[in-house]
Amino acid sequence: MDPKTALQRSETLMLDMDGTLLDLAFDNYMWRDLVPRHYAAVNDMSLEAARDHLFEQYRSVQGDLQWYCLDHWCEALQIDVMQLHHDVNHRIGYLPGALDFLRAVHEQDLRVLLVTNSHPDTLALKDAVTGLSDYFDGVISSHNYGHAKESQSFWHALKEDVDFDVETTLFVDDSQPVLQSAADYGVKMLVTVTRPDTGRPTREDSEFRGVEGVADML
Ligand SMILES: [Mg+2]
Repeated sequence: MDPKTALQRSETLMLDMDGTLLDLAFDNYMWRDLVPRHYAAVNDMSLEAARDHLFEQYRSVQGDLQWYCLDHWCEALQIDVMQLHHDVNHRIGYLPGALDFLRAVHEQDLRVLLVTNSHPDTLALKDAVTGLSDYFDGVISSHNYGHAKESQSFWHALKEDVDFDVETTLFVDDSQPVLQSAADYGVKMLVTVTRPDTGRPTREDSEFRGVEGVADML
């Protein structure tokens, strides 16, 4: 089903935050640039060595809730990652067309839920900067359930919490493992975002139907 038709047929619209509504350029800058630079300075090592060390640590928890957990990184790296987020919060912003899309779906007879792996502290910061929660009927951080979206346990907990029909729910996310997890649970309408980071080229490697940006579903 093409993404426009999926949106028209949906009764519940579930939207991911980072890379779907907000520009993933912020998170990539944070984790691939700022945190390594900070870590290198604090530990008196080269940026390259810091990157190697950190990327290895990132890989080891990818897809786990820990990966998204600020407390985990504050402790593991001995860096105040939340402070770094605040220092550069002017870099947080919507993807092109995403705010117009939110305004449009907010006007429709549709339940719109934000469904994110973002830690509640980063979620609160991003909401303070962008005001995105105004456009939602519900905001769900997977940290509240103790399971990341990549896990089937997350979807069972979500179903229990907000109840949704897998036949009439449209889920939009930029992460392939997350979309696969939703598919495994039985969510029928799935759409990926192919340009989650405006600083990088469009991706063409997804097996899910894609839009460059959410506004393309209108
Ligand atoms: Mg995402």
